[in-house]
Amino acid sequence: MHGAEVLIIHETGGAAAGDDHRVRPVPDGDGMVSASPSAGLAILTADCASIALGSEEGVFAAVHAGWRGLLGGVIEVATAAMRDLGATAVHGALGPTIHAECYEFSEDDLASVAARYGDGIRSVTSGGRPALDVPAAVAAAFDGASVCPVAGIDVCTCCSDRYFSYRGGRDDGRQALVVWSMEESP
Ligand SMILES: [Zn+2]
Repeated sequence: MHGAEVLIIHETGGAAAGDDHRVRPVPDGDGMVSASPSAGLAILTADCASIALGSEEGVFAAVHAGWRGLLGGVIEVATAAMRDLGATAVHGALGPTIHAECYEFSEDDLASVAARYGDGIRSVTSGGRPALDVPAAVAAAFDGASVCPVAGIDVCTCCSDRYFSYRGGRDDGRQALVVWSMEESP
């Protein structure tokens, strides 16, 4: 949706062993938050940022962040929703996304993002054109929301042939980011 709507997922579709896997449809949104040990949250992306958030309290989130979602505060909204559900320290990892070298951006739109996240989001493409640095914008959003960054997947979806980049002309699928909680082994 490229917005900042975040859904709270309280329960899953009820599939059990031997059951056919029923999936309960969820409303439209760009982020999902859950504290349910039985939930798995998945979001689909092409060049937009896919973000996994987690906490030791077992509250976790999957966020799709396009530049409009970043501007709308989707990461901050998801983090606040996690804290409402009991998360204290929140850790975040960024998945594959388009990088500045491939992401030419208009000056007007860059100014909007810079007004929220600072001039660190300004970059240039490999051809020297103005560009948005999505990982820098995500880092700034993490910082503002007190999310502790952890290692993600530092790859440009457009440069790599392993991802379904819209900009790269390989728009024939999507990658999924799936987040769930695991009990720590004793
Ligand atoms: Zn690239």
